[in-house]
Amino acid sequence: MNVADSQRLGSALERLGYSLTDSAEEADVIVLNTCVVRQSAEDKATGRLHSLRPLKQRNPRLVINLMGCLVGVKGDEKLRARFPFVDVFSPPSDPGPLVAYLTQGEARALEAARTSNLSAVMDNDLTLPEHERGKLVSAYVPVVYGCSHACTFCIIPYRRGVERSRPAGEIAAEVHALVAQGVREVTLLGQIVDRYGKDLPGGPSLAGLLKILNQVEGLERIRFLTSHPNYFSEELMEAVAELPKVMPHIEIPLQAGDDEILKNMRRGYTQADYRNMIGKIREKIPGCSIATDIIVGFPGESEAQFMKTYELLSTLKLDVAHLARYSPRAGTVSARRMSDDVSDEEKMRRFRLLEELQEGIAAKIAARYLGQTVAVLFEEKVKGRWRGRTPTNKLVFVESDEDLRGKILPVTVTWAGPWSMQAKI
Ligand code: SF4
Repeated sequence: MNVADSQRLGSALERLGYSLTDSAEEADVIVLNTCVVRQSAEDKATGRLHSLRPLKQRNPRLVINLMGCLVGVKGDEKLRARFPFVDVFSPPSDPGPLVAYLTQGEARALEAARTSNLSAVMDNDLTLPEHERGKLVSAYVPVVYGCSHACTFCIIPYRRGVERSRPAGEIAAEVHALVAQGVREVTLLGQIVDRYGKDLPGGPSLAGLLKILNQVEGLERIRFLTSHPNYFSEELMEAVAELPKVMPHIEIPLQAGDDEILKNMRRGYTQADYRNMIGKIREKIPGCSIATDIIVGFPGESEAQFMKTYELLSTLKLDVAHLARYSPRAGTVSARRMSDDVSDEEKMRRFRLLEELQEGIAAKIAARYLGQTVAVLFEEKVKGRWRGRTPTNKLVFVESDEDLRGKILPVTVTWAGPWSMQAKI
């Protein structure tokens, strides 16, 4: 989401005549786009912000914009007092306040104040920032903003506001514009992406949106994330299975394998529901890869409850598990009402156990690719090797002197590890 927000903001600034610089010392405007999903991310953001203060002291005309979840959808007076050298505070996904500040146009400022999400207005003629134009192969496209689910550990609904789907026509226009600028793959984003369209009178659903985008000429691949087990319908599974441009890769968090913990997290499903749903996905979309998210050390999580997560992960054999150790986020239900009673050492021990388990599973899944020919969409050259992804989202590196950017080529896998593969053309 933040990458997409930054791209949109970059485009908005280019329209005002700004261009990108790599050096903070040279910049007229610095935007710090922040994430607060973990405490460490928040600490990093505030540390970086403090490091900008001397630049502002040296150059009072420098404009500093703090953007994203740290500011939150409602703005934050405390932040203004804490960081008086920041000129503009913007909620996530909204270049409006900075654009208004820079243009100083009254009409513009009024418009920015009226609309909570100026970026949505700008989307119809979205252009990529110049430094990415013609180079970016894979782009993020937010399709549903915010989240109305309110899992007890999560700060997102407080920061990104209630769920709002973007109209399908607007998304299709944005995707057309991206393709015209060289993009070959889009990843549709939403905190609960499979709820897309539920707040739009007459839809479409996410499956309907995928059907529309599947027809965009020049677009090669479509992905979407993050799904929620409660909303992953059979219609959606069929759309993934049938639409040739929609890639067989699903990101669908489990969070915990114990029903009581799931209830305390207010996730809205049981471990049996999750297990059945994975079974259904595998039946309807053969060869589909699946990624999950798991939190260890949620308040009250006993050893036995943790082991249920361990056992579930070891039987489901998913492709990827994004692991996190629970940390209370101020303002959330779990921080207010539950005691963070699993020690840091124990959280780390559980984290390492799952990490080791998943590494073994991922290595076995990867080994199946050895000697196979897979279609890789190449994105960029990193340290002399071209980097791309298979339809199942596996990272592949290939050595080649040719320009492979944006090309989809069949390659043969010569080495396969748990996190990436090597291949030859
Ligand atoms: S569904 Fe996701 S974004 Fe929404 S509250 Fe739960 S964890 Fe947070």
